[in-house]
Amino acid sequence: MCRHLGWLGAPRSVAALMLDPPQSLLVQSYAPRRQKHGLMNADGWGAGFFDDGVPRRWRSDKPLWGDASFASVAPALRSGCVVAAVRSATIGMPIEPSASAPFSDGQWLLSHNGVVDRAVLPLSALAESTVDSALLAALIFSRGLDALGDTVAEVGASDPNARLNILAANGSCLLATTWGDTLSMLRCDDGVVLASEPYDDDPAWQDIPDRHLVTVRDGHVELTPMKGTP
Ligand code: GLN
Repeated sequence: MCRHLGWLGAPRSVAALMLDPPQSLLVQSYAPRRQKHGLMNADGWGAGFFDDGVPRRWRSDKPLWGDASFASVAPALRSGCVVAAVRSATIGMPIEPSASAPFSDGQWLLSHNGVVDRAVLPLSALAESTVDSALLAALIFSRGLDALGDTVAEVGASDPNARLNILAANGSCLLATTWGDTLSMLRCDDGVVLASEPYDDDPAWQDIPDRHLVTVRDGHVELTPMKGTP
């Protein structure tokens, strides 16, 4: 399972979110604390952020810890809406920059933490890679993000072994699902962080229960139980 992180709030640097905290995605790439599947996240990474409403991405198929160029530039990349991830490739999946989250349809940035049988997903010419996460992202984009909870529940019903933690943002809204893996939330004075695991030991981190949809918009957080909750 990969680890992902989203921020919606006042502008912050990508480094402050991904690299600087004591248990940042950088540390999670080699020593995650809550990862249930896989030992480390060395198969790539992605940093996505909105810049005047336009999603921009920097993705790689190499370990995050080895990228000195990114570490040098990341403090200068500032945004009020960020989606970032480090990847542990599922066995059999391609390792290439286009298989690293976040995926995009030009409006949304989306990360998938989990696994799904590609046989239950429609083939899509819009998928950026043959990795399961890219096919799932293409399906979610085609159904529309308003239907995120329903789409995830439907895919989960077709593949009972699927793990479907999604994180998505469009610059003004941050969405997440929990379906088989961990997710934590930190509410700050100037915004909200959603992350697969806390990036520090601040006691204000809250664990999100499984099979929930989280919606962050206009400084408000809404937690909705999803269909298919046992
Ligand atoms: N299945 C996806 C991949 O191979 C995501 C893996 C993960 O969450 N570790 O990239």
